[in-house]
Amino acid sequence: TDVRELLLSRIRDVPDYPEPGVMFKDITPLLADPAAFTALTDALAEIAARTGATKVVGLEARGFILGAPVAVRAGLGFIPVRKAGKLPGATLAQSYDLEYGSAEIEIHAEDLSADDRVLVVDDVLATGGTAEASVALIRRAGARVAGLAVLMELGFLDGRARLEPALDGAPLEAL
Ligand code: IMP
Repeated sequence: TDVRELLLSRIRDVPDYPEPGVMFKDITPLLADPAAFTALTDALAEIAARTGATKVVGLEARGFILGAPVAVRAGLGFIPVRKAGKLPGATLAQSYDLEYGSAEIEIHAEDLSADDRVLVVDDVLATGGTAEASVALIRRAGARVAGLAVLMELGFLDGRARLEPALDGAPLEAL
């Protein structure tokens, strides 16, 4: 579609970043283009509406940039999932494996309730580890998962297959 072409045209491929052999997908040209940023926000807000989401969770850090305007556009609250040690209140924490070592993310659990259906928003789905841990946090906070919406899915990393059990039927939408 036209939106897909517009979004694709504003994503920059950066070779060998952050390390040799990696082709980094840089979304800063898209953010700098108001037509593209608005089209992306509208498309993600449409997913939020269609999945019956009551809250948007954004994943640090680019998931904040994309998720916050989606929440406002869809009329929903926004909740950040942050890297460990950044949130001041009572948190739930979830660690997950990286290629080398591990990472930990946190959420303010009190901002979610059993009535909530959460749409998780991020820029790129790679291995799916970050998204999988986020879904676990949302469930542990007592809420349901409406879906996962990303700008881009790096299909060759099979994140979708890894996430399928965690999503438990909730949709994974990649624009
Ligand atoms: P995963 O946990 O392996 O799926 O990695 C996803 C996380 O890494 C997301 O939060 C992305 O923002 C980030 N990420 C991985 N690859 C890229 C990329 O090529 N461009 C931008 N972000 C990326």
